[in-house]
Amino acid sequence: MTPVDSLESISIVLVKTSHPGNVGSVARAMKTMGLCDLRLVQPKHAAIAADPEAIALASGAADVLANSQVYASLPEALADCQRAYALSARLRELGPALQSPAQAAQEALSALPDGVRSAFVFGAERTGLSNEEVQRCNRQVYIPSNPAYNSLNLSQAVQIVCYALRVASEAAHAVPLAVPNPEKRDVHAPRLASVKAVDDLQAHWLEAMEAVDFLNPSKPKKLVQRLARLLGKAQLEQEEVDMLRGFFSDVIRVAQGRLYPHEQNKRKAD
Ligand code: SAH
Repeated sequence: MTPVDSLESISIVLVKTSHPGNVGSVARAMKTMGLCDLRLVQPKHAAIAADPEAIALASGAADVLANSQVYASLPEALADCQRAYALSARLRELGPALQSPAQAAQEALSALPDGVRSAFVFGAERTGLSNEEVQRCNRQVYIPSNPAYNSLNLSQAVQIVCYALRVASEAAHAVPLAVPNPEKRDVHAPRLASVKAVDDLQAHWLEAMEAVDFLNPSKPKKLVQRLARLLGKAQLEQEEVDMLRGFFSDVIRVAQGRLYPHEQNKRKAD
């Protein structure tokens, strides 16, 4: 499963949201982190996602808004989810187990392969989630914050949760870093090519492209910049530069129909 597939199956549920701008900002917060399933429970206006302010604040995430679904109640919005996380800054008596965003994200992602769908539930701007709504959820997530003022803006709370999910997802799919083995380590560090050597390689590369009509020098388009960027990223070693230059010399030679010196001598002898 790709990280995007995993994140796409996690839902963000907003309960009784009043401000269209917040809904738009939530869509943006989700899309930037790779989430797309937005559910709205009893929003102030049924068409809140189509409000111009929502669309303006969603910016490039208008698709998340357009695909959002409106539900008449929280249980209906959670009908296909096996696990729900209530986001709240207020501790409740006998509330669900408390987690940090990182713990919740880790748990939600690791349950996906078993077919467990998770939803993160956020309350209304002024009133937050009711006790009943929090109790409908399996966990309560508290975003660590200043005890003297711990109420984040709704979309900023969503951003933090989506970021935690993104980090957990990327960590789960990352290739573990190879631990260097000191015994096997090459004592001769490779000699990186100089800027000048790479510059000369680039000129040679372009010459070869021109020789096979891949590059029209009067219309190079973005080819020269792209090649320069590629070479800048590659951190080539001098041996690699030498190998590529040998290859380009042959490309140019063959394109011009020239023979190797030893082949020329053989022809003369024949
Ligand atoms: N005044 C409301 C808070 C509304 S903020 C109250 O007293 O509950 C809107 C939503 O953002 C909250 O319902 C909650 O879902 C989320 N939120 C804001 N700050 C949070 C925090 N520190 N921890 C967890 N969720 C938070």
